[in-house]
Amino acid sequence: MTARIIDGKAIAGNLKAELATKVEVRVNEGKARPGLAVILVGNDAASSIYVNKKVEACKAIGFNSEKIELPATTSEQELLATIDKLNDDPTIHGVLLQLPIPEHIDSNKMLEHIAPHKDVDGFHAFNLGRLVQRNPLLRSCTPKGIVTLLESLEGVDVRGMDACIIGASNIVGRPMALELLIKGCTVTVCHRFTKDLQAHVSRADLVIAAVGKPGIVNGDWIKPGAIVIDVGINRLEDGSIVGDIEFDKAKENASWITPVPGGVGPMTVATLMENTLIAAELDENTDRN
Ligand code: NAD
Repeated sequence: MTARIIDGKAIAGNLKAELATKVEVRVNEGKARPGLAVILVGNDAASSIYVNKKVEACKAIGFNSEKIELPATTSEQELLATIDKLNDDPTIHGVLLQLPIPEHIDSNKMLEHIAPHKDVDGFHAFNLGRLVQRNPLLRSCTPKGIVTLLESLEGVDVRGMDACIIGASNIVGRPMALELLIKGCTVTVCHRFTKDLQAHVSRADLVIAAVGKPGIVNGDWIKPGAIVIDVGINRLEDGSIVGDIEFDKAKENASWITPVPGGVGPMTVATLMENTLIAAELDENTDRN
């Protein structure tokens, strides 16, 4: 079997086009143009690229965007004050703190300071709690984007599937497990202390890898017909970008597989845009003053 490729770039493009139409309709109805503020602390090169991609996506869709660049020496108090200002700004519907931030700042404290209804990354304890309760509000972008990808697969229903998630981080693995529970999967979450990764991967109907180690999942382990989603982004010495799963071998066993790049990555950005529109709609439906 050779897997069908899940074209995340195309699916993300369709989602962004739908959002652009919805924004136009909103604005014509006299409603506010959705606004996203992205805070970048320090000068991490990769973060800077991600932030620029988000700002470009806002422009393409017709959102307002604000990029706030702060020096690496920014204090917690200064960052809290910046977040306060954005929380209070009626033209800003989504506030995103680009991670990682410098170590002297407590990232959890900062994320908890973002108003939950503007938390378009879905990292606030309120939003994660709502996902735990199967009543999500703003959902973490990468896992939510993966759900959108899975829903787009022709003839596929993941209900009842054995899913194996590799990686248990707050931003991908854990919310992914909650999303798949809602979808009716039986979920196994593997992490750095997992004893026999191969055993878990090889019995899964759905494999999602989010580790950040190239080739951590051997393509031969993939069960024939399984769906394979690779979240990993790893830059090799020759400059090329690969995921966590041995793509060439895995695609011989899988039924569907995401490429890296061009799979999950574009969906994360498109889902952030989707969340920003949801946050703007929430704002309208709430009597906040
Ligand atoms: P993280 O470092 O926070 O978490 C990595 C996880 O992998 C941990 O839970 C750890 O226990 C687990 N792990 C480490 N070694 C392992 C092993 N040998 N076996 C099994 N599990 C192991 O990383 P993260 O922030 O979740 O990101 C993971 C990867 O996904 C990175 O490559 C990151 O760049 C990428 N990522 C991509 C997107 C996207 O939009 N495509 C979004 C977020 C993260």
